[in-house]
Amino acid sequence: MALKLHNTLTNSVEEFVPITPGQVSMYHCGPTVYDYVHVGNLRAFLLGDIVRRTCEYLGLKVRQVMNITDVGIGGNNDEGEDKILSGLKREGKEVTMENMKTLGDFYTERFKEDTAALNILPPHVLPKASEHIAEMIGIIQALDSKGFTYKIDDGVYFDTSKDPHYGKLGKLGKGLESRIENSQKKNARDFALWKFNSNLGFPSPWGQGFPGWHIECSAMSTTYLGKSFDIHTGGLDLAPVHHNNEIAQSENACGCEFVRYWLHNEFVNVAQGKMAKSEGTGLTLSDVTKAGFSPLAYRYFLLLAHYRSPVTFSWEALTAAENAYEKLKKTVESLEEGGIVDADYKAKFTEKIENDLNTPQALAVAWTMLKDKALPPSVRLATLKDFDKVLGLGL
Ligand code: AMP
Ligand code: ZN
Repeated sequence: MALKLHNTLTNSVEEFVPITPGQVSMYHCGPTVYDYVHVGNLRAFLLGDIVRRTCEYLGLKVRQVMNITDVGIGGNNDEGEDKILSGLKREGKEVTMENMKTLGDFYTERFKEDTAALNILPPHVLPKASEHIAEMIGIIQALDSKGFTYKIDDGVYFDTSKDPHYGKLGKLGKGLESRIENSQKKNARDFALWKFNSNLGFPSPWGQGFPGWHIECSAMSTTYLGKSFDIHTGGLDLAPVHHNNEIAQSENACGCEFVRYWLHNEFVNVAQGKMAKSEGTGLTLSDVTKAGFSPLAYRYFLLLAHYRSPVTFSWEALTAAENAYEKLKKTVESLEEGGIVDADYKAKFTEKIENDLNTPQALAVAWTMLKDKALPPSVRLATLKDFDKVLGLGL
């Protein structure tokens, strides 16, 4: 068998064929560093980790990039919500470039701590948007020279009517209107590549200001992975607008295919709907640990669901996951070192994980193997440790 992944581009599970045999290039939309990430965000970062670990387990060489959105004014999400400005306001800080940097650096460190606690491997490159302005300007200039841009009073925009393929991700033909409104926009779906700001920001050929949110990911991914790369991931909420805009910018600038496989995780929900900071339902990892749970019990909780199924966060469900995880650790303690990996169970485990990263079924194989008394304890331990290269449960 070979690795199969669900590709949002075709809405089907496809065999994964990398551009360069034996190597995988992958990019994950990272955090906007204006606050602590919530445990819903962590599900998106865990997806990146599972894809990487699975590829490495299968013998592929991985290059992994995740961005840090640390600048922007005029909207750093599809709702046009100004997360960085709201972060500065919340902390009683004046809106200056220096304070933006301090805020961003602080929450970047907190993000690194939270992901490390979940055993999420650090990506090979973690670029900051503030350090890649020149690359963003380069893409906008390429689009400019090809007639894809126009300038209005508040910025430079991408003209979606010039792109016949616009919105191809997930065949999401409707509902792509950018909610960042400006009456001068030519089409509702058009989006900002550069936003003017006379007081703050970076110099550009069009005037001082900030890059649009989408151009940040187009620039940081292609800078480190090349114009075409294998895998791009993010939460499902990013697919309709953010990712379709990334595709439109990148493909029209280079005249080539941007990404082969698009993977999207479903949400962590709470009773009121999707967990979100803006709704006041964003629980952080430290809320979880303060309630007495270990970060890896949360990882175990997430692995119990397939990444394309929604999960509902509740303390009861987390308690059940913590109990199962503790039982797993106790089982490990009762086993012995010195064995070899059981080939039959390894084949079963591989089959599950190769099938679009089916972590719940892979975990079930691990439990069946641990209960199989026909295997010597040392073989069970060696086999479990081998599985843990993918599961990342610190066993
Ligand atoms: P943001 O910082 O808002 O851009 O989010 C970072 C990542 O978390 C993105 O990939 C989002 O799609 C993802 N995300 C946001 N909320 C949730 C949620 N409740 N469940 C799962 N993923 C989420
Ligand atoms: Zn992105």
